[in-house]
Amino acid sequence: MCSLFSQSRQPSWLHTNMRRFGPRNVTHLISGATRPHLCSFLPRTSPPARAPNPVFSTSPKRPLSTPGHKPSKSNKMEVRCQCGAVSFHTPTAAPLSIYHCHCTECQKQSSSAFGTSAIYPATGLFPLAPELREKLGCWTRPSKEGRTMDCYFCKACGVRMFHRIREADGTERETVSIKGGAVQGLSFEGAKHIYVESAVVPIPEGAERWETTPDVMEGREGGN
Ligand SMILES: [Zn+2]
Ligand SMILES: [Zn+2]
Repeated sequence: MCSLFSQSRQPSWLHTNMRRFGPRNVTHLISGATRPHLCSFLPRTSPPARAPNPVFSTSPKRPLSTPGHKPSKSNKMEVRCQCGAVSFHTPTAAPLSIYHCHCTECQKQSSSAFGTSAIYPATGLFPLAPELREKLGCWTRPSKEGRTMDCYFCKACGVRMFHRIREADGTERETVSIKGGAVQGLSFEGAKHIYVESAVVPIPEGAERWETTPDVMEGREGGN
């Protein structure tokens, strides 16, 4: 039917009534000619089956998790290097603390503006499982006040995975600092910014910030 016939201007209730009560005429918008409305010729059929509404569709189900979600207490999080050769789980579901460290050591280590450390209890990761240990290289650097820092990295892709401090007397610290970007799905909400005295990027408004280290710190990074 010519699109200039005015059926499209008629309200939808009229279409229904035309099927019920018989043909009605429509008028051409330019010539003024009249002809029966298209609905008059349509067979009475059941309405077509509706396509499933994607919003309320039940299959397939989408996972409810989001990249930044916090796990339940029983869910330890996966830690992976860039190539995937090194893979293990966090000692606990959630870290004790997260620090964005702006010290110059962390800038060098991360080859970036700052380093991110998620602090966990060392128990559960240490002593390292032999199959994990053999995939890791370890570089040790001196730290403050006679301490040393063992820095573990993937032998294949070189990504730094975690650090552990040894005190001057050789005692290993009870915490391990896992590099935040390697922890899959870690939420950085509430992370503290430390050593902002050497920061090269702006510190977000409202974030907890310390010129050097906080008064209380589970695992010391950078300035150790
Ligand atoms: Zn790797
Ligand atoms: Zn640092």
